[in-house]
Amino acid sequence: MSLFLQLVSVSKAREEVRNITVRCGVEPVPLAEALHRVLAEDIHADVDIPGFTRSVVDGFAVRAADTTGSSDTIPSIFTYKGKVLMGTPSGNRVKPGECIYVPTGGILPDGADAVVMIEHAEQIGGEVLVKKAVAYGENVLFYNEDFSRGDVVCTGGKRLSPRDIGVLAAAGCTRVPVVRKPKVGIISTGNELIPPDKKPLPGQVRDVNSCVVGSFVQEQGCIPLFRGIVRDDRDALRSSVSRGVSECDAVLISGGSSKDDRDMVAAVIGELGEVLVHGIAISPGKPTIIGKCGSVPLIGLPGHPASAYIVLLAIVRHLLAGMSGETGDNIRLVQATLGQNIPSSKGREDYVRVAVRDGIAIPIFGKSGLLNTLVQSTGVIRVPAESEGLETGTRVEVIVW
Ligand code: AMP
Ligand code: MG
Repeated sequence: MSLFLQLVSVSKAREEVRNITVRCGVEPVPLAEALHRVLAEDIHADVDIPGFTRSVVDGFAVRAADTTGSSDTIPSIFTYKGKVLMGTPSGNRVKPGECIYVPTGGILPDGADAVVMIEHAEQIGGEVLVKKAVAYGENVLFYNEDFSRGDVVCTGGKRLSPRDIGVLAAAGCTRVPVVRKPKVGIISTGNELIPPDKKPLPGQVRDVNSCVVGSFVQEQGCIPLFRGIVRDDRDALRSSVSRGVSECDAVLISGGSSKDDRDMVAAVIGELGEVLVHGIAISPGKPTIIGKCGSVPLIGLPGHPASAYIVLLAIVRHLLAGMSGETGDNIRLVQATLGQNIPSSKGREDYVRVAVRDGIAIPIFGKSGLLNTLVQSTGVIRVPAESEGLETGTRVEVIVW
């Protein structure tokens, strides 16, 4: 019996994908090249941060208790005991009723436990009038307050943002262990396909999927290896896929994933390795294949670009994230109110394209072969398999493209 008839749920398909996902190896990169890479392991601070108690403003270091009740009308008077120079500890200790000027980032002198901002003080000769009370620790960053030596500053599995890069610098991590970027082979199949730089003759179609799939792969932090267009010819397909298997960490093949005579992707995957899933209860995107050859995952995507994209989003994204070692979900969601009913069949997870304007999501019901809905939509709404549809006015989460 054909496996194709045995549709599996989206969650089952994801589980199958998880089972064949292998995280790529680790490579060290200089900190300056670590942006958007996935951290392979937890990074610990090699020093205490900050390494000294410091002021976060320009002002006068004081004992907070001495400022109690200070105001514009009734300032407290402090004895000025000199200034702290940047990067140098003060030789003096702040005693009751005394203050020492300290610049932003300067070491807080011993005895002081707060800083009065310069805006709230007035120096007159050897005295300083304090016009505002400060609390213990105000305008001060204490020794160790940020991170202690040995603390995890950044967790493995995170895709590094500019903020993370800064924290890694503070923690002394200059060679960053990151997961090697997965190499993903991309094959388009179909006798009708021509490269985008050619003008299509009747019956011909420009290869959209190589570009869509390749860009998606790149967006997910992986390296696309474009293997071009392959005719609907079993030998040609077999040799292209097997070359992909030897050169890549995963191979994505679009078109020919259904059960027509020309649809030979499942047969070729079966010959070279194993077909695990043929057909997913998802719309659009039903004719999807999940398979493997050795340790290399092979995915057969539907030919319709819009359908292929939904499968990239719902299934392949998890494969790429897993191979990249990324543990968080990088999907972007916005809340909206549904502006129109969405009918849906039970037992199938539907992805309906919507345009969101002023917080209202309007479904765009296009045929899956249409490309215009891909550019006119903001994203998609997922209608769970157990749902029979969503009613106007429902609050929904839109997966933003
Ligand atoms: P298939 O899944 O091979 O039967 O293809 C389904 C539909 O998607 C057909 O109309 C194909 O012409 C179209 N199609 C398949 N592959 C691509 C591609 N790479 N770019 C654009 N359209 C495609
Ligand atoms: Mg085809």
